[in-house]
Amino acid sequence: MKYDIMLANAMVLTPAGDILEGQNIAIKGNRSEKVTPDTLQPGSAEKQIDCRGKLVMPGMIDGHTHTSQQLLRGKLADEYPMIWTRFLVPFESTLTEEDVYYSALLYCIQAIRAGITGFAESGGRHMNMTANAVIQTGMRAAIARSMMDSGNSITKSMLEASDEAIEHNDELYDRFNGAGDGRVQVYYGMRQVMTCTPGFIEKIAQHAEERGTGIHAHLCEHRNEVSFCLEKYQMRPAAFLDTCGLLGPRLVTAHNVALSEHDITTLVDRKVKMIHCPYANLINHGFPKTPRILEAGGYVGLGSDGAAYNSVDLFEEMRTLRAALISASGLPVFDPEVMPVRTMLKMATQGGAAALGMEDSLGRIEEGCIADLITIDIMKPHIFPTNNYTTAIVDTVTAQDVCDSIIDGKLVMEDRMLKTVDEQAVMEECSRRMAEINRRL
Ligand SMILES: [Zn+2]
Repeated sequence: MKYDIMLANAMVLTPAGDILEGQNIAIKGNRSEKVTPDTLQPGSAEKQIDCRGKLVMPGMIDGHTHTSQQLLRGKLADEYPMIWTRFLVPFESTLTEEDVYYSALLYCIQAIRAGITGFAESGGRHMNMTANAVIQTGMRAAIARSMMDSGNSITKSMLEASDEAIEHNDELYDRFNGAGDGRVQVYYGMRQVMTCTPGFIEKIAQHAEERGTGIHAHLCEHRNEVSFCLEKYQMRPAAFLDTCGLLGPRLVTAHNVALSEHDITTLVDRKVKMIHCPYANLINHGFPKTPRILEAGGYVGLGSDGAAYNSVDLFEEMRTLRAALISASGLPVFDPEVMPVRTMLKMATQGGAAALGMEDSLGRIEEGCIADLITIDIMKPHIFPTNNYTTAIVDTVTAQDVCDSIIDGKLVMEDRMLKTVDEQAVMEECSRRMAEINRRL
């Protein structure tokens, strides 16, 4: 059989977090057909990449992001946490279709260069344009429409009647679910409990169920949300969403910081896919209870929360969460293993794959699994030599060390050159648009 791509002589990260040396990965279609130490015939693949000096690992998955907030970069530094009403709403509501398209292209470029091969978009306006950017760049994504049907005078500009909102998400689903050879999935978006009525949330759950697709929501990002729910429904957010029928394996919840013990049990029981956004959480609302959630058997992935006030870089997010949790909950009880390196890597790969509903076939390098993988140049003084490459990925590798990216069996970046999009042109266009948006605001 003639393979499409062969990664030869590679050091490979296994799903358990071990490193195998001298491996050959043969890709056919969108799958890794062979992962073997046996030498495969020269010329048995259309394209051969010599991976000596490189480490191959699964592409990371950004489990919660806002691709349309790229052009808000640099505006939110040193701001009081409640940026949502003062910055995000006016900004998001002024974006045109073309703004959203270029913003999503810039996100995809940044993400691919950082070793991210898939993401879950929690939603904004004009998500058809985000889907187009994903199709074009070769990325993988689950895209939702951000929906809300209630709120105050500030969020008014973004509210929709519930039926109309759902209808638009249905249209997005009909048009784009399965597009880009199956790389695009369309989820339903429930922005958060403070901006969606119970009847609306029930409808969202029902439409996702009928179509067998996912739902993306913000959950327990901050304490205000909990007190809002307690006051209005006499229940905490997780219990309230359960009464609306939203909790289940289809649901991806972002942040999950202000969780009680009972909330954790409920979310784990319902097999909800939880995502932390470490940097965004730590500078705004505090420490997630990650070790507790993992111990309870929950799915946990990592997200960037978009580029508005941090980078799209899961290497950084792994380091941030690990340092924060060891410092906060490990050191006081002499438990430096509270967030092991292997756990961090699983969160960034398999945890994110679960958020895309693909935990069985994505986020791992194994025969038969989908070929979304990256190579890392290890011949750099901050990496080589090392006694432990698994540790190095979490502790010292940076986004700039990512060399090649293969998504769905296609080479989308080779030697840090993107093959699907003109990076320079997108940056220039985004710069022009950022200035224009600032004028409009
Ligand atoms: Zn978010």
